[in-house]
Amino acid sequence: MKVDIANRLSGMRGIERVILESNKFKLVSREFQDKASSIKLNNGFEIGSKKITVIAGPCAVENQKQLFDCVHFVKNAGASIIRGGAFKPRTSPYSFQGMEKKGLKLLSLVGEKTGLPVVTEVMCPEDIDLVANYADILQIGTRNMQNFPLLKKVGKVNRPILLKRGMSATIEELLLSAEYIVSNGNSKVILCERGIRTFEKMTRNTLDLSIVPLVKNLSHLPIIVDPSHATGKRELIEPMSKAAVAAGADGIMIEVHPNPDNALVDGKQSLSLTDFSKLMRELIPVARAVGRDV
Ligand code: PEP
Ligand code: MN
Repeated sequence: MKVDIANRLSGMRGIERVILESNKFKLVSREFQDKASSIKLNNGFEIGSKKITVIAGPCAVENQKQLFDCVHFVKNAGASIIRGGAFKPRTSPYSFQGMEKKGLKLLSLVGEKTGLPVVTEVMCPEDIDLVANYADILQIGTRNMQNFPLLKKVGKVNRPILLKRGMSATIEELLLSAEYIVSNGNSKVILCERGIRTFEKMTRNTLDLSIVPLVKNLSHLPIIVDPSHATGKRELIEPMSKAAVAAGADGIMIEVHPNPDNALVDGKQSLSLTDFSKLMRELIPVARAVGRDV
């Protein structure tokens, strides 16, 4: 029936193409666009290309020295994008909330000095212009994946959006949130698996790696994996990063700190500088095995 109508429609004058949609999400689907999307950044780097994107940096910007020591090191070790939170979504109102505008300024300064693009989180629609002024990529965190006013507004911004999966969101819900951004005009969306809540308590979250090949079939958008928030445990970052690359992820996002035991946020899941270098070296053969580079 659907096919009949499509055939009739496609023969009509003025109809360029008829697309049969079987999913609720449309613009982000493979049916709409068969070719995988990649996102070119100002420095020429391309997310979703043969080269695996490695985003690295501290959970939160704490001060200039911490950020600069960390960023110079991860750049030399091969990271292609810098991360660092200036606005931190914390479970407790008494925890460190981030350096806010001062943190954004430091991020943009270190981005300029290293020539690397910067990704940082924006938590509410009113902050979008401010954050976009200092950052190259805007992150929507897990707690905001279904903040629809925020999604609609970043859909109108000329910056790529790193959309993290809600901690209790299904894959369909993640793709529909991406659809909000794309349907509002911004097609530069990068999906990010960061673990979901399950009954398991030994890890902070449960890393749902099956999302990677599944999303690759359903959507043309690039997808990266954040093993730091997914596991909450430093010793699990390296094996899960390798597994993510082996599963076909376009990149990984890793929390790194010059002194993880004294980090203000997420120290337990942050790699030390030397552990990050080791990870980068060990990712090379895994990436090659699946036809990618690091
Ligand atoms: C983060 O990347 O710093 C962060 C807060 O992640 P998530 O939203 O996945 O918890
Ligand atoms: Mn964190």
